[in-house]
Amino acid sequence: MEVVVITASSQPVTLVLFGASGDLVWRKLAPALFDLFVEGWLPEQWTALGVARTAMDDPAFRARILDGVRRFARRRPQPPQEEAFAARFFYLRGDYDDPALYAALARRLQERGAEGHRLSHHVFYLAVPPGITEAIVTHLSEAGLLRDRDRDRVVIEKPFGHDLPSARALNARLRRFLDENQIYRLDHYLGKDTVQNILALRFANAFFEPIWNRRYIDHVQITVAETVGVEHRGGYYDQTGALRDMVQSHLMQVLCLIAMEPPVSLSPDEIHYKKLEVLRAIRPIPPDQVDAYAVRGQYGRGVIAGAEVPGYREEPGVDPQSNTETYVALKLFIDNWRWQGVPFYLRTGKRLPVKTSEVSITFRPVPHRAFPDTAVRAWQPNRLILRLQPEEGVLFRFQAKAPGPLMQLQPVDMHFLYREAFGDAPPEAYETLLLDLIRGDTTQSLDAAWVEAAWAVIQPILEAWAARPPTDFPNYPAGTWGPPEADRLLAQDGREWMLPTLLEAPSL
Ligand code: NDP
Repeated sequence: MEVVVITASSQPVTLVLFGASGDLVWRKLAPALFDLFVEGWLPEQWTALGVARTAMDDPAFRARILDGVRRFARRRPQPPQEEAFAARFFYLRGDYDDPALYAALARRLQERGAEGHRLSHHVFYLAVPPGITEAIVTHLSEAGLLRDRDRDRVVIEKPFGHDLPSARALNARLRRFLDENQIYRLDHYLGKDTVQNILALRFANAFFEPIWNRRYIDHVQITVAETVGVEHRGGYYDQTGALRDMVQSHLMQVLCLIAMEPPVSLSPDEIHYKKLEVLRAIRPIPPDQVDAYAVRGQYGRGVIAGAEVPGYREEPGVDPQSNTETYVALKLFIDNWRWQGVPFYLRTGKRLPVKTSEVSITFRPVPHRAFPDTAVRAWQPNRLILRLQPEEGVLFRFQAKAPGPLMQLQPVDMHFLYREAFGDAPPEAYETLLLDLIRGDTTQSLDAAWVEAAWAVIQPILEAWAARPPTDFPNYPAGTWGPPEADRLLAQDGREWMLPTLLEAPSL
């Protein structure tokens, strides 16, 4: 058998980190880079140039980077590694609107280019609030820094726009300066091993695909639950809400991976196309029937892990009269041959009882139950559960005969846990994503058409909710599973939300 060895990227690269003084660089990017560095994934020649307005020199910036690494990296840093790592970081102070910043940046990149033997790739990572993305891209272009269509890339973090029209406008403006293959729209969810494993599970195994359709699957539930409130991001969140922040991006991605057709290859174009097909097949929600498909909620005061927590409207940075939703439940249908009539139920919320992301696929009952009533008291339909985080893994629930003289059926689980199988928790999503963008692989980034199609799915809900402010907020206490309407959404179909397996399976 041919053994394919994936090696570290060899192209020299300079990462230009806009917003270098911020949370993302400190908490996520620097630790992820460190883990990649220690594990030998980065090219020999790489540097990171931080850009921001905050006054800092190189030593102060390096100290901040190392602080993030010590707190958040998977690998425990040793002093010689720390030093070697920190020495790759430089800092450039400037105002994002000032052309002089970009002239200085161009000089720095040129100097660095002159040192190397080969042309360096430039990754301009915009770790800044979305409002200034366009200005930075415009300045970079005017300074001639985006000319090389193969080597110059721009990374933009979600959110991409605020609704369908703004996403279209943003994409149109970016296209003035960049080819689509130069733009990396990042949704860090896609970098998670467990999310990528959906592809492996479905398409590297023979036995899932034949039953992965309306004949065998009753319905699908996707839950992304958080226990936290808005933390320090109240101002941002209050302008955004759960539908925009979570559903348009993370939940739609997971939905696409669960529902897509088998890809011909794993090339970026092919994966993007197959995911886009799913979004295009989602049945549009009629504007006058939004309540039959979507439920919104906002948490009030309550108890999480035994501690009292404030209501959303009492959080710092949040308008005390806010009507922003912190919970969404949705029912979607995919109008194609595979999924006709199979509901996909999606829910996400803050201040829910447990932090978990889980996909639960419930299969149809057997066509004929030969077992007597006494045997099937504990009967449950077969379920496949993908635990995206935490306690990452896959569970398959089926009926077994309980030991004893009588025929008694009992649901049991087969399970695969990442930490059991591979001895470690999966790496951080940002490690995978950073490596992809250093290598120039756009498979895990979002393309413009997908982003717009995902907005198109939720646009009728955004409009209906904006036109009709809620009258019952807050409508769920912190520490509960959301408003009662969310239960009714499923009850009207004769179904109920599954308790996440994290809460019910002590054996795992
Ligand atoms: P921050 O709010 O920490 O901002 C990053 C930096 O941008 C700040 O240090 C500041 O640097 C600069 N900045 C902040 N506000 C402004 C402003 N109004 N005008 C100009 N510059 C400003 O953001 P994060 O680091 O948390 O996030 C960066 C991006 O990544 C955002 O788009 C966010 O949505 C996204 N993201 C973040 C995640 C996280 O875990 N933090 C996770 C997923 C996405 P200075 O003042 O020094 O110029």
